[in-house]
Amino acid sequence: MKIKSKILLLSSVWLVLILLLINGSIYFLFQKIIFNNETNRVTEHTKAVVTAANEAIAADVIHEDLRLLFRAYLPTNGMIRIITEETSSSLTISKKAYMKQLPTKYENQQSIALRTFDDIPYAVVSFPIIWTDGSVVMLEVTESLEDSQKTLRTLFIVLSTASFIVLIPALFFGSMLSRLIVTPINALTNTMKQIQTTGAFQKIQLESSSKDELYTMGMTFNQMIDILERNYQKQQQFVSDASHELKTPLTVIESYASMLKRWGKQKPELFDESINAIYSEAIRMKEMTEQMLQLANADSHLTLEKTNIDLLSISKQASQHIQVSFHRDIHLYENGSDFHLWADENKLKQVIYILLDNARKYSQGSITLKLSETNSICAFSIIDQGEGIPTEDLDKIFDRFYRVDKARNRETGGAGLGLAIAKKIVEAHDGSITITSTEGKGTTVTVTLPKQEERDVINHEA
Ligand code: ATP
Ligand code: MG
Repeated sequence: MKIKSKILLLSSVWLVLILLLINGSIYFLFQKIIFNNETNRVTEHTKAVVTAANEAIAADVIHEDLRLLFRAYLPTNGMIRIITEETSSSLTISKKAYMKQLPTKYENQQSIALRTFDDIPYAVVSFPIIWTDGSVVMLEVTESLEDSQKTLRTLFIVLSTASFIVLIPALFFGSMLSRLIVTPINALTNTMKQIQTTGAFQKIQLESSSKDELYTMGMTFNQMIDILERNYQKQQQFVSDASHELKTPLTVIESYASMLKRWGKQKPELFDESINAIYSEAIRMKEMTEQMLQLANADSHLTLEKTNIDLLSISKQASQHIQVSFHRDIHLYENGSDFHLWADENKLKQVIYILLDNARKYSQGSITLKLSETNSICAFSIIDQGEGIPTEDLDKIFDRFYRVDKARNRETGGAGLGLAIAKKIVEAHDGSITITSTEGKGTTVTVTLPKQEERDVINHEA
């Protein structure tokens, strides 16, 4: 069963039940009150007849006079009977002949009852009296409650009609409510079906002006689609970039290998060159794959193993390694402050290596590594006097695989991933990385890292 039908069914069943309960109670209460009033009235009237009859019998009036007395007391819609011990009526006075067929019973005691005969209710009140012949008889006064029954019937019709009138708008609002709930769900289902069949990411049209739960559901769905789409695009980008980047070294390896295959045995000088080229391309591919994997991991989530580290000491180590390996001068400046902070040591070292490696590759002169610090942050800048970066490229160099001068970088072997990795790591530390560069003069890369967590930990430990 559809939600819409369920809501409609449930709300109408509830309403019908409530109406039945309320209107039923009203009807039966009203019926009880009316019949009670009527029987009370008939009882009072019977008492008056009994008194009059007793007085007349005491005064020895004749039978015919008693008949006249009862006629005088006869209710418009009723009957007065004298019931003898044998349950037979010895005297019956009624304007309505059919009433005489009403069954009766000799009870020898006062009785007040409501009896139904031929679907008509009657109030029957009987009192024992001593009759003219000295026997105990029952004086029974019966009055038809047909008028009250008519009133009750009218009440029944009024209540039923009112219930029916209430049901119509209730059904209408129930259907409106279910439509309100179901429409966004249907939109969501249709969009999901469309995504399934077309394979294209689609969003739901959000029209609701009130920011209710259904609107939030739609918003959340759209946000989820956004994330999925972004991830999908990233993945596509990554696959195409990676295959593009691996194509060149693979082509180099393939052409050197085929040269070796053809002429390797005749030309030994070709042998060395080919082996070297294949080896260096293989190394480059290996490094590139490692970097790409690192970046892919960083995209999913970068797990940091933070400890209390000394930025000065890791800067010194990294500078030392680059100096020894590449015979380049690196000047380290610091103002004697405390450069401790709460960070992942290996990952920060990697950032310093990436930046020093760039400074080394894209400049010839000396390189400067400058550390600075305030209450809340630690920062370091790597400054070179190299070729610089054109202003129009500055905002793109953090994109993966982006290189300013592809031909030039091909010689230095860069894949264009270094700065993308560095940015990921710095951002994972809630820090920032900025680059300023003047073409032909040099480049400065500054990394700023917050100290906050470190201080929190120290306070905590204290
Ligand atoms: P990889 O670091 O992956 O080996 P890469 O050095 O080419 O390769 P990135 O470190 O991301 O890649 O740098 C991107 C580009 O930015 C470089 O190709 C280079 O053109 C430019 N660049 C980066 N640092 C400097 C610098 N200090 N001076 C001049 N250009 C730079
Ligand atoms: Mg680099």
